[in-house]
Amino acid sequence: MTTIEQSPAGTTTGTVHIANLIGGEWTGSVTDRRYLRENPAAVDEVVLDVPDSGADDVADAVAHVSAGYHAWAATPAEDRADVLLRAADLLASRAEQLAVELVREEGKTLAEARNETRRTPQNLRAFAGEALRLAGETFPTGGTSMVLTRREPVGVVAAITPWNFPLNIPSRKLGPALAAGNGVVFKPSELTPLLGQRLVEALLEAGVPGGALALVHGHAEVGRALVADRRVDAVTFTGSTAVGEAIHAAVPPWVRTQLELGGKNAVLVWSDADLDLAADLIAKGAFGLTGQACTGTSRVVVHESVLNGLLDRVMERARAAVIGNGLVSGVTMGPLANAAQRDKHHAYLQVAHDEGARLETPTGDWSPAGGWFVRPAVLTGVAPGSRLAQEEVFSPMLAFLSVSSWEEAMTVMNGTSYGLSAGLVSGSLDTALRFAAEAEAGVVKVNQATTGVAINAPFGGLKRSSTQTFKEQGGASMMQFYTREKTVYLSPEEPA
Ligand code: NAD
Repeated sequence: MTTIEQSPAGTTTGTVHIANLIGGEWTGSVTDRRYLRENPAAVDEVVLDVPDSGADDVADAVAHVSAGYHAWAATPAEDRADVLLRAADLLASRAEQLAVELVREEGKTLAEARNETRRTPQNLRAFAGEALRLAGETFPTGGTSMVLTRREPVGVVAAITPWNFPLNIPSRKLGPALAAGNGVVFKPSELTPLLGQRLVEALLEAGVPGGALALVHGHAEVGRALVADRRVDAVTFTGSTAVGEAIHAAVPPWVRTQLELGGKNAVLVWSDADLDLAADLIAKGAFGLTGQACTGTSRVVVHESVLNGLLDRVMERARAAVIGNGLVSGVTMGPLANAAQRDKHHAYLQVAHDEGARLETPTGDWSPAGGWFVRPAVLTGVAPGSRLAQEEVFSPMLAFLSVSSWEEAMTVMNGTSYGLSAGLVSGSLDTALRFAAEAEAGVVKVNQATTGVAINAPFGGLKRSSTQTFKEQGGASMMQFYTREKTVYLSPEEPA
């Protein structure tokens, strides 16, 4: 194992050398394997050189954190909160450089990346507040005896994250876990290890002890070893439903597991909708972030009376997309994250064709600047039970499904195995209230895009989009995941 020199935050050219963090030391992997990550917008440019870790690195990381997190757990809540606030300040002061690194690593546009680097410090500040608000309860028992609950850290938390928000999603796991006094072993996505590392660097610099936080880079092998390690007390995972379900099957019942998974999110455009607003919201949800948001819009369920008017407007917005490298001014849609995502997009165009759907937008293998670029794809004549209407594609691909009654609309809306985000465009309060009650989704948006969630509100899916046991982000339910509760009975030696 070799010690790796850190590239300073804000490295915006050349190749950044990524390192694991184990026992407070930046190191390579004991496997001595490494892999390269290309810029999704210019695939000839290698942006990262990354340790390809294995089970032995994970075992080492878990051993260090399980032995080392106790001092952090014993740190007063006020001091843990201060550390998170300092980390937030460090990240905020680096927001612009981090945004550029995020574009090079993942492929977002600079505006999208800036939004992420702006929100991450806000997350950490919110969790600093949660550290101070962790409280138990007392229960009336009569006399001088007491019954009370103690909230304690769970222990060692394994945090496994996807690539599509490589700074923000990890901050919503490491932030609350550390706020509650846990130790964390963090495995970022293999596609976006750099922004996860930048978060860890800021937390260490702010004062999180090296014994309480480890970072292990690599592929699925790392995640599998982490969830199989019996010294891990809790697993928090955000990613695909297939992997989440494999993790759920792999962990024993006493290891608490939080899974936030995929979606097949729809917007219902009702007959009374403002069609310009509807088209704006749909385009934002479907083509923003190049269709790579878990809450992205992938289905439009539209009342038949407004289908043509809506389609024209959405097509106008699809045609207006300026596709290219997110660092170039004026670009509104970056590339997909890797070749597999690009190939999946094209494979689903073929599926749609075979299922009889009609592609309204131009297609073809098309690559404006040697990256993994695709055009927005809008498809009509999509059957509710078809693969295109049922399966998450995770690209700017939008399926139109036309309906003629409210009952049919809600059957189609709710007729997938997912339940993450659901949108309605309508001017009627009655319709909005009915929709909020009937939509089977953890996030319901009325006259808003399906994407975008508040920092201080619970966030999570229903059905196969989540374990539904604990919501990410926002307040008490999330902090429950990162704390365990003991019920303590107290009596004086000699009752009065
Ligand atoms: P993924 O499931 O392929 O990978 C996620 C992480 O799990 C990666 O770090 C990966 O290396 C690791 N992993 C892979 N196999 C594993 C295994 N068997 N055991 C343990 N870890 C394993 O997901 P992705 O492609 O990185 O991300 C896209 C997916 O994430 C989409 O389905 C999207 O909807 C979902 N997502 C959900 C939310 C949400 O909040 N619900 C947010 C963002 C993304």
